[in-house]
Amino acid sequence: FGSTEPGTKTVISREYSAEWKPGDEPYYPVNDAQNGALYEQYKALADAEGKVLFGGRLGEYKYYDMDRVIESALARVQAELAK
Ligand SMILES: Cc1cc2nc3c(=O)[nH]c(=O)nc-3n(C[C@H](O)[C@H](O)[C@H](O)COP(=O)(O)OP(=O)(O)OC[C@H]3O[C@@H](n4cnc5c(N)ncnc54)[C@H](O)[C@@H]3O)c2cc1C
Repeated sequence: FGSTEPGTKTVISREYSAEWKPGDEPYYPVNDAQNGALYEQYKALADAEGKVLFGGRLGEYKYYDMDRVIESALARVQAELAK
């Protein structure tokens, strides 16, 4: 940490999945039928915006890892520039 020199220590972090309960941070989208229908309403409003592109995890209401979100952004830019 804080140095580009090879370290002498290894840091291991572990993540454990857990069921969400009220009061927890809502990290992940829950793609059930109710939320999907709500997202479609937001998407209709977003699509009607002529000069704003909504993308990424929030804009597309999808769980993305970093590589996938970058891939999605690049594809969006490519599609826009091709217009
Ligand atoms: C707990 C957790 C662990 C993760 N672990 C990994 C991992 O190990 N490896 C991996 O590849 N990916 C991981 N991810 C996924 C990765 O973090 C996301 O794919 C990525 O950050 C999504 O990028 P994004 O730009 O779509 O959204 P974000 O990174 O969430 O960026 C959205 C930005 O928009 C801002 N914003 C929101 N609303 C507004 C508004 N109205 N006006 C102005 N700004 C606004 C937010 O503050 C935020 O800065 C993890 C995600 C979470 C939640």
